[in-house]
Amino acid sequence: MNAPRVERRPIRLLDPSCVERIAAGEVVEKPASAVKELVENALDAGARHVIIRLRRGGLEEIVVEDDGTGIPAREIPLAVERHATSKIAGSGDLLDVHSFGFRGEALASIASVSRFSLRSRCAEEDTGMRLDIVGGRLERKEPVARHVGTTVIAADLFFNLPARRQFLKSESAEKRAVHQVVTALALAHPEVAFRLESDGKVVLDLAAALDLETRVHGIFGSSVAAHLRRFEAELQGMRVEGLCSLPTYTRGNRTGQFLFVNRRAVVDKGLMHAVQHAYREVIPGGRFPLALVFLEVPPSRVDVNIHPTKAEVRLRDGAAAHELVRHAIQDALSLRRERPGEGPTLSQLADVRPGEGTPAQGGEGESEVPDSLDRIAHEVFLHGPTEGYSKSYGPKWSRQKEEPRLFPPSALGEESGHFVPSGAPVDPGLGGEENGSPQLFWQLHNTFILTQIRGALVIVDQHNSHERILYNEGKKALEGRPVAVQQLLFPTTLELSPDELAAYEVHAGDLEKMGFATEPFGGNTILVRGIPSDLRNWNDGALLRDILVDLAEATGGSDPREAILASYACHGAIRAGEKLTLPEMQALMDRLFATDLPYSCPHGRPTLIRIGLAELERRFQRR
Ligand code: ADP
Ligand code: MG
Repeated sequence: MNAPRVERRPIRLLDPSCVERIAAGEVVEKPASAVKELVENALDAGARHVIIRLRRGGLEEIVVEDDGTGIPAREIPLAVERHATSKIAGSGDLLDVHSFGFRGEALASIASVSRFSLRSRCAEEDTGMRLDIVGGRLERKEPVARHVGTTVIAADLFFNLPARRQFLKSESAEKRAVHQVVTALALAHPEVAFRLESDGKVVLDLAAALDLETRVHGIFGSSVAAHLRRFEAELQGMRVEGLCSLPTYTRGNRTGQFLFVNRRAVVDKGLMHAVQHAYREVIPGGRFPLALVFLEVPPSRVDVNIHPTKAEVRLRDGAAAHELVRHAIQDALSLRRERPGEGPTLSQLADVRPGEGTPAQGGEGESEVPDSLDRIAHEVFLHGPTEGYSKSYGPKWSRQKEEPRLFPPSALGEESGHFVPSGAPVDPGLGGEENGSPQLFWQLHNTFILTQIRGALVIVDQHNSHERILYNEGKKALEGRPVAVQQLLFPTTLELSPDELAAYEVHAGDLEKMGFATEPFGGNTILVRGIPSDLRNWNDGALLRDILVDLAEATGGSDPREAILASYACHGAIRAGEKLTLPEMQALMDRLFATDLPYSCPHGRPTLIRIGLAELERRFQRR
C-alpha cells in the first residue's frame, strides 16, 4: 500500500494573537457588527447622543462617538483586554443582565482586527486618555484633551486577515447593513439622539424623541408613518407592543421589519413568521408589511447567549409569543376571524369601505358575499382603495393602434385594432350583452380573464399580463417615446428616507421619462404632480416609494434601468383580486398583444394558458 506521504507536524497551541483573531471573527464579522457592539457600549454608558461615521461603508473607517460616562484613564488599558467588563462581577450576575454587552469581548476583538483607537474621558478627570492599537498590538498611549465621553475608531477592518476581508460584501451592501443596525438601535432607544454619516453625508439624523411614534416619523418619514397602526397585548406574563402597517402598505422585502426582545434587536424566525401570518389573508405573496415588534418577556424566559453577537435569542415560550404577536396585530387591523362574536361579521366586513372605521350594518346581499374571507379581504383592502382611485382619475386604458400586433394574427380584427376573441360566435344569452355586442371576456375570481381564440380556450392572468405591458411600455418610454402623463388632482408630497432620496436624485430623470412628474420640495420631501396615465396602483405614492426602495437596494452590478422597469411593472400592475370592467379587459388584451413578448411576464411567469378544443374534447371523452 502506498500511503499518501504527508508531512506530519507536531500538535501545538496556537499563539495568543492568533487565537485572538480567530475569536474576533465570531463577534465582528462585518462593519455592521462592529457598529452594533460600539453603539451598544455607548448606550450602556448612558449616552444621550451617539454619532456614527463611516467611510466606504465602514470598510475604510468606522467612528462611534458618544457623550456617555467615559472611562477613567487607569481603566482604559483594561477595557481592551479580553474578558474585561464593568458590567458583571461574576457568573452569578449572568442570569440577570440588563446591559447590552457583558462578554467583555467587543473592544478586544475589534482592536485585534483593525487599526484601532480608543479615546475617552470621564467627568471626574480633567483630561482624557488615548490608546492606539494596531492588529492587537499597543502602538500609542497618551493623554488627550477632550469632552466627557468616548470615541472609538476602527479603520481597515480585517487588514490583518486577508481571507476574512474577502468575505466582506460591497461597500454599498455593508453600508446598508450598518444603516439597518443603527435603525434598529434607534427604534429601541427613541430617547437617545442618533446621527449616522456616510462619506460625509448625513444618512440619519434623529433628535431625542419622547416616544416611538416620533422616532418612526424621523426614520421613515411622515407619509409612511401615516400607514402605521399601534398594537399591544399581554399574555402569560409576556407583553408585546409596536406598530404595524395597514395591509395596503407593504414592501417587496423585510427591510421594514424590526423585532426586539427586551429591547434587543433580534432575528427570530418564529416572530417573523407570526408577523407574516397575521397578514396571511390580506397581502399577496412576496409582499411584506412594515412591523416594529417589541416583545417583553421575563429575563429568565429567554436565552440571549445562543449567538455570539446576540442577534438570535431562544424564547422558552415561542409558541405563546407567536400567538400573542399575531393576534395583537390582527386585532389592531381588525383582521381577526377566530372570534366572530367580537369582530365584524363576514357580511358586515364585506361592506367596509376604505377610510371607514366601522363596518356598515345590514347584510342584505347575503348571497353576494363571497364565501371565503380571503376573497373579502382582497376586496376590502386591495381592491377598495384602487376603486377610489379609479373613480377620481379614471383608468386610462389607451388603445394603441399604431403598434404592430404580433400575435395571434387570427385573433386580431384588423380594422378595429382590437384583440378579438374568435371562433364560433358566442351565444349572447350566455354572458349577457353590453351595448348590443356579445360579451367576449369574463373575469374569474377577479383574477383571471377567460376568453376564446380560434380552436382554443384562453385563460389570462391579469397581473402577469399587466406586468408585461407596463414593462414594455416603460422600456419604450425610457428609450424616448413620449408617454401620457395623468396630472394628479391633488399633487402628493412624499417624505423620503435618506436612502430613498439618494435613489431619487440619481434616477429622477428616468422616472420623469416614464411619466412621473416630480420635483424636490425641500428637505427630504418631493412633490409628485403627475403619474403615468395608465398606472393602476398609485396608492397615494406608495408605488413610487416602492420603486425608490428597490432602487436604493439595487446592487451596483445590476442595470438601474432594469431595476426601475422591473419594480414599476411589479408594483404598478393590476393585482389579483381587482375587478375589471369589460372595456378594461379588452384594453388589457389589446395592449398585451401589442408587446413583443406577450406570453410571459418580465419574471418569466406565463401570462396566459391556452387549452385547445381537442384537449377539452378529449377530457370530456368526446373522442
Ligand atoms: P462589554 O461591553 O461586554 O463589557 P466591551 O469590550 O464592549 O465589553 O467593553 C469593555 C468595557 O469597556 C465595558 O465593560 C465598559 O466598562 C467599557 N466601555 C466600552 N465602551 C465604552 C463606552 N462607549 N463608554 C464607556 N465605557 C465603555
Ligand atoms: Mg460591549
